[in-house]
Amino acid sequence: MRAIVTGGAGFIGSHVVDALLTRGDDVLVLDDLSRGTRENVPEGAQLEVVDIREPLDFREAEVCFHLAAQVDVRVSIERPEHDAQVNVLGTVNVLEAARRHGTQVVFASTGGAIYGECEGPAPEDAPREPLSPYGVSKLAGEEYVAAYNRLYDTGHVSLRYGNVYGPRQDPHGEAGVVAIFLGRLAGGERPRIFGDGRQTRDYVYAGDVARATLAAVGKRGVFNVGTGIETSVLELYELCRKVAGSELEADHAEARLGELQRSVLDVTRAERELGWRPEVGLEDGLRRTWESLQP
Ligand code: NAD
Repeated sequence: MRAIVTGGAGFIGSHVVDALLTRGDDVLVLDDLSRGTRENVPEGAQLEVVDIREPLDFREAEVCFHLAAQVDVRVSIERPEHDAQVNVLGTVNVLEAARRHGTQVVFASTGGAIYGECEGPAPEDAPREPLSPYGVSKLAGEEYVAAYNRLYDTGHVSLRYGNVYGPRQDPHGEAGVVAIFLGRLAGGERPRIFGDGRQTRDYVYAGDVARATLAAVGKRGVFNVGTGIETSVLELYELCRKVAGSELEADHAEARLGELQRSVLDVTRAERELGWRPEVGLEDGLRRTWESLQP
């Protein structure tokens, strides 16, 4: 298969590229390297440095995994127009290129930033209450994906990822807490926990996310990609200390404004319709991430 990965030089995109190469696909990465790096693109994949807002040539690719995005929630609050340009107009541009070339689009969306506060694992039809311009721009992207499916009878997919972690994660992204904790522990520095540390998230390993992303080829609709398991920041920090063999205590700071208390995804639909389920448990995934940080 010929596949395009926008954002393939970034964290999750590079895991998708790895998975595609492993199964023998021909992979073209489109990335402007604003956050991604050439080193993240494995040998065997071709890299074209391009902004997704510019004219795109999909060269008859069968599928485009669209992961390129402005991913920083705080940047979206400071510069909402920039966030919308990349995440909304960039996504429309990708959908138009896909239309010209007959390409399926698998769009990387977000669970946490779209559902807002959760009372339990949120299914795909839970109310959508984004708390940031980033959540709104991702939701707008999903709505374009759904409208193109209705208008052109295409088979595009939106995947709502949980808090993705793993090797090559940059600490500044949407769910950078694992990268921050392990990075600081590796440098012998105390990480900082905001609020009481009881806020929960659904942490899902990047390799599992890449498998779910490939499993969406040939499907249509919206799917949560997480684990269905809630982990508090305090529990996460304990596990990070364990895999790092560290006894460092964390510093504590004031809770941050607008931070969600609970965020967790119901992944029943992905299990049923994509035949996918997460395989890497949190401790195992943290261990792999920790090992990737060692020189
Ligand atoms: P990342 O920043 O590592 O990857 C994004 C990539 O997109 C980078 O390589 C960056 O250089 C590229 N990019 C940004 N703007 C671009 C533009 N205008 N043109 C071309 N390339 C551009 O972030 P990530 O964590 O790997 O996120 C990948 C996708 O998954 C994003 O769409 C993000 O919204 C989504 N997502 C991530 C998480 C998470 O937990 N990390 C959770 C939910 C959804």
